[in-house]
Amino acid sequence: MNALQLLADWNPKAAYQISAPELQSRKVKSGSSVWHNPRLEFGILPDPECAADEVLLEVSAVGICGSDMHMYEAGADGYILYPGLTRFPNILGHEFSGRILEIGKDVRGLAVGDLVAVEEVNWCGTCDACRRGLVNHCTQMEELGFTTPGAMAQYIAVKAKYCWKLEEIAERLGDERQAMLLGAMVEPTGVSYHAMFNRLSTWKPGVYAAVFGGGPIGLAAVALAAAAGASQIIALDVSESRLEIARKLGATTTLNPKGLDLNATLLELTHGHGVDFVIEAAGAPMQTLSPLTSSLAVGATIAHIGRSEKPTSLSLEHYQVRGVQLAGSLGHAGHGTFPNVIRLMASGKLDMRPMVSAQMALRDAKAAFKRLESRVDAKIILLPNSEPTESV
Ligand SMILES: [Zn+2]
Ligand SMILES: [Zn+2]
Repeated sequence: MNALQLLADWNPKAAYQISAPELQSRKVKSGSSVWHNPRLEFGILPDPECAADEVLLEVSAVGICGSDMHMYEAGADGYILYPGLTRFPNILGHEFSGRILEIGKDVRGLAVGDLVAVEEVNWCGTCDACRRGLVNHCTQMEELGFTTPGAMAQYIAVKAKYCWKLEEIAERLGDERQAMLLGAMVEPTGVSYHAMFNRLSTWKPGVYAAVFGGGPIGLAAVALAAAAGASQIIALDVSESRLEIARKLGATTTLNPKGLDLNATLLELTHGHGVDFVIEAAGAPMQTLSPLTSSLAVGATIAHIGRSEKPTSLSLEHYQVRGVQLAGSLGHAGHGTFPNVIRLMASGKLDMRPMVSAQMALRDAKAAFKRLESRVDAKIILLPNSEPTESV
């Protein structure tokens, strides 16, 4: 089959203590401390085989994520930028939809021909974190497209327990191609959904919401905030093209935060009450969360999604006095997130298609990654088994 692999050299930084399991499995906790000289290779790999608890999928659509970019891009020292769990060489791609071609003998509830989206977080179900219901914090986790082969390929075998059916979307749209495009965006949308609605149960229709970051996760948060009845959605990003998409997805105000007095502006927009629900999807908490003080409403919630390794200073005194809670959020698995996102998409209440700036054939993947270096596009979707059409 055709597939896009990422190759990188094993070259642990002197300061990084490689553990025995990391050495043995080559699955490392901090990719940016180990993997050097990343490069993409498009070519032919063996077709995957379907185990008893797996299904074999023909991949319909697969999005390129910021994390894919951070595995592909190296810093000045030549190490990949992505700081998380990784094993290379590996096929990239974790935001995708596909059609079932084959089912393993132990699989129940799925059939050949079903259209599905797949959780990227491959939780084990047996570790302590999983047994507590915290599947996104599984201690034995594999991550599809990070540590195990991903979906930037014609075919992929995945465990049936990570699959969710997309038929409802296809029925609603009456167009399988469009349904599969939406299906590829269930995963990134699920990341925002998990942060907003699962981590803390503080969301209320009517809230004043502010979303920092206009990448796909921030844009999904804007769309979810609109679907969930926010009365104001203030989207902040330095890119005008991304703010334009935010407006299409439901942002009521869009702001470039550069040089802005954040507290004064947010207070003015919220009639002096402050923001009830803040979503950090910029990965720049020093610029987004640190300045927030008087513009946090009493009882405000901060959902922190964007990744940043640097320590961040926060005005905890304000948090205490105003009863503010902050939840770090990771992942999208469990908690009914995938099926609820799929239902929202099927109902027409959540349409992420304005975010897709281009569809490209998988063979053009390297060009797509190159194009994304400028960060002008919000989302490029690759099609491993069909040719792109004009309309998104
Ligand atoms: Zn992603
Ligand atoms: Zn687990």
